[in-house]
Amino acid sequence: MSAPTLLRHAGAARDADARCPACHSRGPGLRYRLTRFRVYACRRCRLVYLWPRADADEIRALFRSLYAGDPACSPALRRYFSFSYDDAPANPQVQRYERWLDAIERIRPPGRLLDIGCGTGLFLAVARRRGWLGRGVDDCAQAAAHARGVFGLEVRDGRFGELPEDGQRFDAITLWDVLEHAPDPLALLRAARRRLAAGGVLGLSLPNQRSLLELVAGALYRASRGRITAPLEQLYVEQHFAYFHIETLRATLARADLEIVQHRGEHTDLRRLELPAPVRLGLRALFAVARAAALENRLFVLARPAEPRAQPAACARRRHGAFFRMRS
Ligand SMILES: [Zn+2]
Repeated sequence: MSAPTLLRHAGAARDADARCPACHSRGPGLRYRLTRFRVYACRRCRLVYLWPRADADEIRALFRSLYAGDPACSPALRRYFSFSYDDAPANPQVQRYERWLDAIERIRPPGRLLDIGCGTGLFLAVARRRGWLGRGVDDCAQAAAHARGVFGLEVRDGRFGELPEDGQRFDAITLWDVLEHAPDPLALLRAARRRLAAGGVLGLSLPNQRSLLELVAGALYRASRGRITAPLEQLYVEQHFAYFHIETLRATLARADLEIVQHRGEHTDLRRLELPAPVRLGLRALFAVARAAALENRLFVLARPAEPRAQPAACARRRHGAFFRMRS
C-alpha cells in the first residue's frame, strides 16, 4: 500500500473537529503541518496526536502489507515484521521479549497472560516456554492465523474491546506497540484494567514522544519555517494516532486506575531496519547521545492497579456508601 491511498476519506475531516483521543477535548495547539496530516498537542492533557486519522479499514490494510513485507511500504520497514515469525534465540525480537519477560517475572511469576495485539504470536510463544499460559487477540487476521497455525496458540481475530467479557482475569496483560494505535487509548486501558487479576501486571511498549529524534526533527521544522518535514514524517506515521511521553502516559494510566511501577527508555532495534550505511551510523551516534540524556525513542513500562490512597475518614465513608449503592 502506498501512503497516499491511506487517509483517502480524511479530506472530509475538518481540523476544527480535532479531538484528543485520551481526554476527548477539542481546540488543540498545532505543532506540525505534515504532508498527509497535522500533529496537534492537547491543551488539556498535553497528549500529542494526529489529525485527521485513518479509519479502521485503512489501518487493517496497512498492517496486512507490513506483515507481508510489501515493498510499497517504507523501505526501511521492509524486513521489520519478518522478525515476527521465528522463535529463535538469534532473533532480536525474541531477545527483546525475553528481557521484557525478565522484568515482568520480577514482579509476578508466570501465570495467565493476555497479549492484546499479539500479531503473529511470537511473544506468546516465548512466554509459553517460560511457563506462561497465554491467550491473544489481534485485528490482523493473517497474523492471528500464523499464531494459531504455526505456534499452536489460542488467539482470536478482532479487537480486544469487541471481545465478550467472560470473567477471566489475567496475571499479566501486555500491550506491545498497541496503545499508540488505539482510537480511544483510555477506554482500552480501562478495559485491560478490568481483566487484570488482583496485583496483576500491565506491560506496555510504545514510541516515546519526548525523544532526541523528535527534538532534532522538530528543530529542523521550526528553523525552516515548516519546509523541512522529512525527518518528522519518519516519526509521525498515520498508523499511530497518539504519541505519549512518560508524563502523559502516567496521567492516562491514572485515569484508568493504574500506576507505573517501572519504566525505562529503549531504542528501536536497528537490526530490524534496512538503512543506508551513513544513516545507520548517524542513528547509532544519535541513540548514544539520547541514551545519556534519557531521551530514547521508545518507552517500556510496567503498571499495576493503583493502591487505594489514604484519605480522611468522612471522605472514605462517602465513597464506600456510593460503592454499595451502585452494587445494590
Ligand atoms: Zn487531551
